[in-house]
Amino acid sequence: MTTNKAELEIIKQLFQNLNADDKKLFLKSIKEKEQINEKLNFTRNLTNCPHCHSKHLKKNGTKNGKQRYICLDCHKTFANTNNTIFYGVKKDLSVWQKYIHCMVEKYSLRKTAEICGISLPTAFAWRHKILDTLQKMMNEVKLDGIVEADETFMTISFKGNHKNFKLPRLAKQRGSANTKRGLSKELVCIPCVINLNRKSIAKISNLGKPNLVALQKVLNGKIQKDSVFVTDSLRGYLKLSNDMELNHIRIPRNKHSNGSFNIQMINSYHSILKAMLIYTFKGVSTKYLNNYLVYHNFVNFAKEIRSDKEQILFKHITSANCISKSINVANRPAVPLLVA
Ligand SMILES: [Zn+2]
Repeated sequence: MTTNKAELEIIKQLFQNLNADDKKLFLKSIKEKEQINEKLNFTRNLTNCPHCHSKHLKKNGTKNGKQRYICLDCHKTFANTNNTIFYGVKKDLSVWQKYIHCMVEKYSLRKTAEICGISLPTAFAWRHKILDTLQKMMNEVKLDGIVEADETFMTISFKGNHKNFKLPRLAKQRGSANTKRGLSKELVCIPCVINLNRKSIAKISNLGKPNLVALQKVLNGKIQKDSVFVTDSLRGYLKLSNDMELNHIRIPRNKHSNGSFNIQMINSYHSILKAMLIYTFKGVSTKYLNNYLVYHNFVNFAKEIRSDKEQILFKHITSANCISKSINVANRPAVPLLVA
């Protein structure tokens, strides 16, 4: 008997010993695994050139099990993993699955690298490739119902930037928590909105206190008409609320609530965000802060249970068009502002 046959025999015997429910569970898990593997085989057929979008393609042999194509117009060759997160990556999909588990558990890069058997730089690159695609998914989010809004501030951090990198201003070791007092231009402003359904939006807008344009850049079109919009007395929210046709509830200055409305949930949203950035990840570079904001929105705040989040994220990265290759993950502005 060959090893394979012997193994198969053992599995068969073990299977017979299972009770009916466990048999069903086992078969279900096998089936799910197969479906995932199918997706990971990149059997997708390309119809357009990823470089010039021409439809004149010809198959051009295979490499590492992946179909390659040549474009008859621009003459470039490419695999069918082009424009996916897996482009140029030889690791098995099961490694990505493990990686996503580590992400949802918020493990450090070091621990993640160990568990997945990948290098630290790879662990770093994958984190931001995945978060870049998550960013695209979160861009589609729209809030309704009771929506709480408030901005938060983080110290600019150049952590982890390359040694040759010229600091635009004094480097800070860590992105630390800051209160609204002392609103210097050393702070990035992050307008945030959340709703009772645990959907959320947060993005760096500007330095220091936000004006109307900064709030608009992050929030315009992101809240459904007629939602209840609960904010503090910052002026910008008034106009924003009118423009988006929301029911505005303003909490007066030095008050914590207006009737039964308050912004307690968004305050805790800010606390959990800062705890993750400062204690879990030991401070993050402002360059990558927008990615950590969607990380927080998805992992800490969204209402799905962890195992569902793993599935959602895995499904998303295997289907999303992802053009950020490891080589340019670091190639983004040190302080990404929507409003200068
Ligand atoms: Zn082409």
